[in-house]
Amino acid sequence: MRETDLKNILKDKFGHSEFRFDQLEIIQTILDRKDTLAIMPTGGGKSICFQIPALYCNGITLVVSPLISLMHDQVMNLRLNGIDACYLNSAQDQDERRAAEDQILSGQAKLVYVSPEGLLSSNLSLFFRQLDISLIAIDEAHCVSQWGHEFRSDYMRLGELKEMFPGVPMLALTATADEKTREDIALQLRMTNQKTFVSSFDRPNINYKITERTNEIDQLEEFIKQYHPNDTGIIYCLSRKKVEKVASDLKQRGFPAIPYHAGLTAEKRLSGQERFNRDEHIIIVATIAFGMGIDRPDVRFVSHLDLPKSIESYYQETGRAGRDGKESNAWMVFGLQDVIKLSQMLETTEANELYKKQARFKLDAMLSLCETVQCRRQYLLSYFGEESSDKCGNCDACLDPAETIDATIDAQKLLSTIYRTGQMYGAGYLIDVLRESKNTKVIERGHDKLSCYGVGKEQSKNHWNIIIRQLLNSKYIRVKNWEYRNLALTDKAGPILKGQENFEMRKPSNVEKIPSANKRAVSQINATHGRMELFEELRIIRTKLASENNVPPYLIFSDKSLHDMCLLLPRNRDEFLMVNGVGASKCEKYSAVFIGAILSYS
Ligand code: ADP
Ligand code: ZN
Repeated sequence: MRETDLKNILKDKFGHSEFRFDQLEIIQTILDRKDTLAIMPTGGGKSICFQIPALYCNGITLVVSPLISLMHDQVMNLRLNGIDACYLNSAQDQDERRAAEDQILSGQAKLVYVSPEGLLSSNLSLFFRQLDISLIAIDEAHCVSQWGHEFRSDYMRLGELKEMFPGVPMLALTATADEKTREDIALQLRMTNQKTFVSSFDRPNINYKITERTNEIDQLEEFIKQYHPNDTGIIYCLSRKKVEKVASDLKQRGFPAIPYHAGLTAEKRLSGQERFNRDEHIIIVATIAFGMGIDRPDVRFVSHLDLPKSIESYYQETGRAGRDGKESNAWMVFGLQDVIKLSQMLETTEANELYKKQARFKLDAMLSLCETVQCRRQYLLSYFGEESSDKCGNCDACLDPAETIDATIDAQKLLSTIYRTGQMYGAGYLIDVLRESKNTKVIERGHDKLSCYGVGKEQSKNHWNIIIRQLLNSKYIRVKNWEYRNLALTDKAGPILKGQENFEMRKPSNVEKIPSANKRAVSQINATHGRMELFEELRIIRTKLASENNVPPYLIFSDKSLHDMCLLLPRNRDEFLMVNGVGASKCEKYSAVFIGAILSYS
């Protein structure tokens, strides 16, 4: 029976005993030769969806993958599992390339990884058209739609594959796609009667926390020291300059931090990526240029020091934490500057109006996530079309609910200051007027004579910044001109000024405090078997094997597999095969050394 065969492949080759999410259904659909669109969260196990059909069918599975580093790791992983695979890309030298072509022509390679531009080039497409292709899998398929315009024009041309390889089923895989993007992916790829699978987006092991920026480096240090002193994490910043600064600040404070952005030399980027894959305790400070190719499953935290431009980006980036299913933190600071900076970037791009409108909508949704007093997870899931009625209990809103306050009076003070100064000044100046500043400009313009002058002097600058931000987010005010960043009222402001409506807002909290429940959970990580010395020993063996094989440690075994060994204490090969992530090939290669260590321990 087909299902049993597939399960056997899963166990024998990959060491997993059950299919996850919709893996089995997706595989069955492909085997029925239908086009398939698979949406699965990061770390959900998308690769299995084409790797198993590749093994089950005659012929070759082509995998279109956007990054060379990603191809390399996936091929290494397959080889360690005893599966023949190779890749073709522009970074190969002639010998490597010829070896790969031989492997393909001799029918040895079951999976071939290629870049989109490679596959569409005339020599490669001709080369593959002579061969028996059983499936075309398109990884990171959202590049066709969401990213295609900006970064990956060759992804947009992937629709031509349908003509080049008529009748070959196509599988598009992605972690982030709302309904519109999904439709667009199918359209761009010219899929016909495709079947779509959407697995749950929920990542229950990730704790979401979004907090106001006071001094971000201090806040970050506090967060890492308290929750992740020996862990691996990613810190995202918007600009290269900030990446460099944050990395050097962290280094100065004694953290193993390295910068990563597109402005570094290829060499530096590669060595950064290698360290990130290899080191047990490493913090990478990066722009969004870092990420697409990350397979490391034990990233314990993802921090944002700048606001991502959409919830899709936020979810994709935070999704790089905890792919092994263990407790992890997604931690972000945000402030007024973010709103201004991102909006400004948006207004000054050359994109067309429709694109800007969409981008503005996405940014607004992102801001609402920050400002919401609702469960963050509920908000995120509902953004992706998943309704959940229960609060999650693992986000800051659930564990440490924000209080709301009636800020009507402050809102009125601010709105009337904007109005009385002629709706032509930016936040800093307005706050000066409110706080009775002796700034010469204020005096020269006669704004010290206004009734609003000094009505806000009891409150800090920061307080007024927060009021301005929340009024901006809720659209009571808007930025009139991006160059001067001056603020003006919207139609919604009237009822508040007239006292017909109240202004409720999230109570600002500057006290950095992570809920205690998650703290407990974090310290419980890995502790179920209580054999941490053994775990450390196994980890040393893993590191040694990894450097012998010249691959990152997690490709030998994931932390999860090592913990499983500590729990099960396998004494022979049959028992070793029961460990999660151990298939026939890895059992053959590694059982002796790991069992040896386990036996001498027990
Ligand atoms: P992604 O969806 O992000 O591409 P991967 O295919 O890299 O995810 O898989 C993520 C991790 O999940 C890998 O370590 C893989 O071995 C593991 N995995 C995949 N399928 C299963 C399964 N059915 N059971 C257990 N682990 C699985
Ligand atoms: Zn929650």
